[in-house]
Amino acid sequence: MRNLIETFWKNTHLAHGYELVSTPHVANLELWKTSGHNDFYRDSMFDTMEVEEQTYQLKPMNCPFHILIFKDVLHSYREFPLRMAELGTVYRFERSGTLHGLMRVRGFTQDDAHIFCTSTQIKDEILGVLNLAEFILSTFGFEQYEVNLSTRPEKYVGENAIWEQATTALRQALDAKGWDYVVDEGGGAFYGPKIDIKIEDAIGRRWQCSTIQVDFNLPERFDLEYVGEDGNRHRPIMIHRALFGSLERFFGILVENYAGDFPLWLAPVQARLIPVSDEHLPHAMAIAAQMKVAGLRVQVDQSGDRMAKQIRRAELEKIPVMAIIGAKEVESETLSIRSRQHGELGSMGVSTVIEKMQLVVSERGWF
Ligand SMILES: [Zn+2]
Repeated sequence: MRNLIETFWKNTHLAHGYELVSTPHVANLELWKTSGHNDFYRDSMFDTMEVEEQTYQLKPMNCPFHILIFKDVLHSYREFPLRMAELGTVYRFERSGTLHGLMRVRGFTQDDAHIFCTSTQIKDEILGVLNLAEFILSTFGFEQYEVNLSTRPEKYVGENAIWEQATTALRQALDAKGWDYVVDEGGGAFYGPKIDIKIEDAIGRRWQCSTIQVDFNLPERFDLEYVGEDGNRHRPIMIHRALFGSLERFFGILVENYAGDFPLWLAPVQARLIPVSDEHLPHAMAIAAQMKVAGLRVQVDQSGDRMAKQIRRAELEKIPVMAIIGAKEVESETLSIRSRQHGELGSMGVSTVIEKMQLVVSERGWF
């Protein structure tokens, strides 16, 4: 499932104009001094390590690495917006008492991205992120959102005018999207305004997932520049955004939302083949091999248990498709299909079952 979620995420980001990057898990402490994390975020970071008389730090965030990639060459405004995405694993110190299943862990993977753009591009970029968030979250069954816009706090960095411009752009993007949102006046970070999206699961619980954050601080600390239309050097706008938040936590929410009863494209085991007796086992194994070649996730129940017990077990495990194989099915090259959603579907040819399952997977539906 992790692999499916990651593949979907990567393909979706490539289709939406992001470049995929990959960055290290440790860096010289100097990087975290420049970024300011060493001063302001020390309590959430793991202890440093000494390597050949240099001090290294396990990464609590991906941002500084993406900044280094950005800085590798001098960019022109023509290349903007520049969108860099990574499924980046980060490590944060959490006290053992605060750890909680998949919801709060010490090492987790952010579906992180950073957008570098001009101030006039903020609105369109934010709107693009809102649309992408909606597409990705709704694909996993989340259709209800609670949206917050947090504005300038009392202590802040950056010019007043740019705060005003960015906050207006965030409002305009939310208005263009047509979403209701609540304004948290003064609730922004010291380095920029942000939008938070909470999703609602099947039983009405709300979970904070997506964050879209404008940052006036890091471009300053790292002295980021691009060449503008006037030929002069300018400071780019940096936007941080994560849609799932953490993959581990999102997976936890996903299990809760579906109560373990996953649509066919996500189900870890899509079909269980149930031989009526041991003599039908070799035939079941051959069909399973055929279905695996077709890209389906299939298991054969090899327990030797009575058929009723095998069916009961597959039901308890919430497997979407059960295929029963007895003498009649071996003879006629068919499968007797039971769908978790629709009950008995009767006898079907093996290739019909494969095609039907592939179609449902491609539509991300229920078998
Ligand atoms: Zn970031």
